[in-house]
Amino acid sequence: MIIEPLNPEDRADWLIERGRVDEAITVLEGLARDGDDGDLYNLTALLVEQGRVEEAETHWRAAVSAGLPGAHGGLAALLAESGRTGEALAGWRAAMEAGEPHAWSELARLLGRAGRVDEAIAEYRAMIAGGDAAAGRDLAKMYARADRPDDAIGAYRRAIDAAGVARWPLGALFERFGRLDEAVAAYRDAVAAGEEHVRYRLIRALASAGRLAEATAAIQESGGSRRSLGWLLAEQRRFAELEAEACRLKGAGRMEWVSLIVGAQRSANYHDDCPADCEARTKVVRELPQ
Ligand SMILES: [Zn+2]
Repeated sequence: MIIEPLNPEDRADWLIERGRVDEAITVLEGLARDGDDGDLYNLTALLVEQGRVEEAETHWRAAVSAGLPGAHGGLAALLAESGRTGEALAGWRAAMEAGEPHAWSELARLLGRAGRVDEAIAEYRAMIAGGDAAAGRDLAKMYARADRPDDAIGAYRRAIDAAGVARWPLGALFERFGRLDEAVAAYRDAVAAGEEHVRYRLIRALASAGRLAEATAAIQESGGSRRSLGWLLAEQRRFAELEAEACRLKGAGRMEWVSLIVGAQRSANYHDDCPADCEARTKVVRELPQ
């Protein structure tokens, strides 16, 4: 016996799974009739998936006329998805006027996606002036896209100070603009502030900046990748330490000694005394292996 679910949301899913899409749409229409914008999202997403975009648009326009909260945004998102950027922007402006949450940042984001970077920058600056300090994160991204490094960095710094946003992306900005020493400083700052997952970026930036001794120390402090450590030690010709570390790991029954040696083999220095046909030589890399 097949038990059909009675709860409308479960029933709609159940019908979709069985390919009975029109029936599912009828069920979702019933839900959306006196529901909220979430129900309408479910209905219109299914319609769009079925290529029935015009019907979805009709639903959102009816919801706008009926004054459903969030309806301007729903319509704007649909228009944006359909590539009707101009109408979508007008939709987000209407959503802003209706006081819908996130409408302003969606407007700015769409401007950016449409390549209208200067306008996006103006919107983000206005958001910040209006008290939304975290918008500095997005403003920095836009400045970076406009190839304005100092503005990007300044905007991100202010967002960190004012809104407590994550620190590590500042390092990524510096890296993007080839300012490795400043990237290192920013990553160090992020690690010190508890953003532990950034440690690998710090080590990689140190290695890229040619600061191999510091990169090595950072791995040794944190117990990071043995493969990276092996490469770093070989790059610095610290072979005695490499051997000692391999022995230590082996002695402790830890298989990471293999990773250590594999990492070392990625350094050209490791192959100084190898025969010419050494196969591991083909795996040599000039950047820190992970
Ligand atoms: Zn070799």
